[in-house]
Amino acid sequence: MGAGRFAPSPSGPLHLGNLRTAILAWLFARSTQRDFLLRIEDLDRVRSGAEAAQLAELESLGLEFDGPLLRQSERLPIYFDAVEQLKKRDLLFPCFCSRKDIAEAASAPHAAPGAYPGTCRDLSPAEREAKAKERPAALRLRAEVTEFSVHDQLAGDYMGVVDDFVLIRNDGAPAYNLAVVVDDALSGIDQVVRADDLLSSAPRQGYLATLLGYDVPEYAHVPLALNAKGQRLAKRDGAVTLEEITEHGVHPADVVAILLESLGLPSTSLQAALEAFDPVNLPREPWIVEPENIVQQLMPGASRNR
Ligand code: GLU
Repeated sequence: MGAGRFAPSPSGPLHLGNLRTAILAWLFARSTQRDFLLRIEDLDRVRSGAEAAQLAELESLGLEFDGPLLRQSERLPIYFDAVEQLKKRDLLFPCFCSRKDIAEAASAPHAAPGAYPGTCRDLSPAEREAKAKERPAALRLRAEVTEFSVHDQLAGDYMGVVDDFVLIRNDGAPAYNLAVVVDDALSGIDQVVRADDLLSSAPRQGYLATLLGYDVPEYAHVPLALNAKGQRLAKRDGAVTLEEITEHGVHPADVVAILLESLGLPSTSLQAALEAFDPVNLPREPWIVEPENIVQQLMPGASRNR
């Protein structure tokens, strides 16, 4: 039996889009008899109190998780072990570029779009020594391919860019792409369901998994929640977090119902949705959210309120 997961970053309260992704990840895992694991991705962007708030929010939706909760901040040696393996195989190099350096080099006429331009890949030892005096180095993977294909249940076979991506940031912390790959593999996660803004990262992650001798998980990148202007849902859009919505007297179960409805699923309960769940029928378009309408619809006294 494999496992699926939800892996929030504790940078603030979960918004409707994150909650919808969490429900989808639960549906995908449970409908395939997988365990469902929770991992807190707290290597950066941590806001104090956010983890506890997110856990309470997920619980109030009725989502149940298996196994121990993992926190990336408690697993640093595990990531460094993986890096050590790659280092021994000469698959890493130090990179001294700033974001600006990369943006400039990447805008050169023949640069591959969205890819690291290779600036520090072949520096001589003397050049490295000189640059090290100016800036601390990040460690990048010396990728031996430029693209890699993963399988996504919604997007099909997806071929995307693999560049020399960062594994250890220049502040010494493991980078997201490294931690995610190591954690998914070591937790027995073989199904990764998350928002589709991460689809373009999946080929890098799948390639890294292969290098480390892990199986590449099956992916399902699900549509994002957007505001009426087509932008990612954010604080400026009004009541977009569970906390803000329930402040108006709305019950979390009614928020679950709205989320299930947006997925074209029976909205009476998570269990009813699970019984009807078939990935083939999921909406492929982003979910356009108008928070004002949701609150209006759900507020005590409104007609659809239970
Ligand atoms: N922690 C990431 C986020 O909250 C998700 C990473 C993943 O699912 O791989 O956006």
